[in-house]
Amino acid sequence: MASSRADTLLRLHLAVGGVLSVVCVLLPVGLGRDVLYSAISIGCVALMAVGIRRHRPRAAAGWWLTTAGIAVWACADVLWTVYTWVLGISPFPSPADALYLTSYALIAAGFWCFVRARRGQGDREGVIDSLIFTVGFALLAWVLLMRPGLESAGTSTAARVLATAYPVGDVLLLAMLVRLLTTRGARTAAFRWLLVANALLLVADCTYQYAIMTTGYTPGLTTVLWLLGYVSFGAAALHPSMRQFTDSDGAGEGDTRFTRRRLAALTLASLVAPGTLMLQLAFGLRLEAWAVALSSVVLFLLVVMRMSGLLRHLEQQASRLADMARTDALTGLPNRRTSDAELERMQTRARAEGLPLCVAVIDLDRFKAFNDTFGHQAGDSLLVAAAGAWSGRLDAAHAGVGPGRAAVLGRWGGEEFVLLLLGHDLRAALALVDGLRARTPAGQTFSAGVACWSGLEGPAELFERADTALYAAKEGGRDRVVPAAPAPVSGDGAASAPVSRG
Ligand code: GH3
Ligand code: MG
Ligand code: MG
Repeated sequence: MASSRADTLLRLHLAVGGVLSVVCVLLPVGLGRDVLYSAISIGCVALMAVGIRRHRPRAAAGWWLTTAGIAVWACADVLWTVYTWVLGISPFPSPADALYLTSYALIAAGFWCFVRARRGQGDREGVIDSLIFTVGFALLAWVLLMRPGLESAGTSTAARVLATAYPVGDVLLLAMLVRLLTTRGARTAAFRWLLVANALLLVADCTYQYAIMTTGYTPGLTTVLWLLGYVSFGAAALHPSMRQFTDSDGAGEGDTRFTRRRLAALTLASLVAPGTLMLQLAFGLRLEAWAVALSSVVLFLLVVMRMSGLLRHLEQQASRLADMARTDALTGLPNRRTSDAELERMQTRARAEGLPLCVAVIDLDRFKAFNDTFGHQAGDSLLVAAAGAWSGRLDAAHAGVGPGRAAVLGRWGGEEFVLLLLGHDLRAALALVDGLRARTPAGQTFSAGVACWSGLEGPAELFERADTALYAAKEGGRDRVVPAAPAPVSGDGAASAPVSRG
């Protein structure tokens, strides 16, 4: 109900605001036209306040600052109208200039609040991208607005300050527009209205400044752009999504990924400096060598920073993926692939250093029954707890022993684990695995088969012997560790015999 009332007000605002803006431009230049112009801008400010009070956004500071910025802009328009049509004077510099300049700062501060409310974590890329656009735009502002403005200002300090300050204000607006565009968060209708409003203001302002220095200002398109800018600000605040847009900090679509569109836009922005130089050369315009050179250096450094960030991101991702490929997601133990690779490394070391190498295959007893009784969640927890308890025991057993000994516990799959023991002979390995058996949490037990590497057999044969011993342990009644039959060097294998029992 409340939302449909808000929609009606928004639609009414857009219709009336749009029509009045067009009517205003069609009116002859004079007091009446400027009064209507000011009425529209003040009306939009009032409606912005209504929107903020109605929707009560959490990050209200941004909305109030932006509204204050538009209000000050509207006051400057009123002041200008009074000077022109009532007092018949046009002071220079005018108090209206101070108001206009203040409004840039207020709108920029408002947008900064929006950016902070939406940013989320670690948005270095967004900042660099915005700077790339801003530097490109700043060069254009210098070439097209500031430099000619300074030249036509002559020696008057006030004129020179204003010739610099207005384009700087535009650069500030552009910087905040792009920064907001690069933030993460929901791209609601209010968000889009804000972007459109800022863009309209920016285009109108730049066109106006360029026109007064070149052809002279003729009210028309620029006026309607300004008015539609005010109307868009009003629409942004009146739209119900203005609350959601500032409240959804960091979540949702529109992140700072290097999308194709963004890459294309950044490429264009980076080409502004060489493009300016080429145009100046091609058309015999005055060269802005220093401005082009300086902005090229800054743009180049920013692009390199962006690339280094991407590279770091890729490296982190690659190392995360490598970790994921190496470890078992549930227990964090080395997975089967890593255990295989580790066995190969250990075999190389065992051969080179003449060390014994044993492999134990461990299988939880009646784990299916455990799952059936306590649920799979509890089964998972048992796997994690068992891995932790056994690892802790292995760490303690290896603390302070010589560098020749190493133990790697991996998850083989399901409720089966593999333990690689370098520097342990069969006796020591059996004792160690037996020690682990006593550490199995939740009163559970395991069976294990242990095989000592013959030095000649391959990994598959070694595992097979350990696995056969595991089967013997299961068949022998579970909860025990069984040594494997020796590798069949001369073709005869010894029978498996349990060494311990629970
Ligand atoms: P045995 O003593 O003969 O080894 O009996 P068992 O029940 O342990 O062996 P069985 O092979 O019959 O069942 C293994 C069970 O392990 C079945 C499966 O549901 C469970 N399991 C395998 N992987 C996981 C896992 O990641 N989480 C949980 N909760 N259960 C798993
Ligand atoms: Mg099993
Ligand atoms: Mg089992």
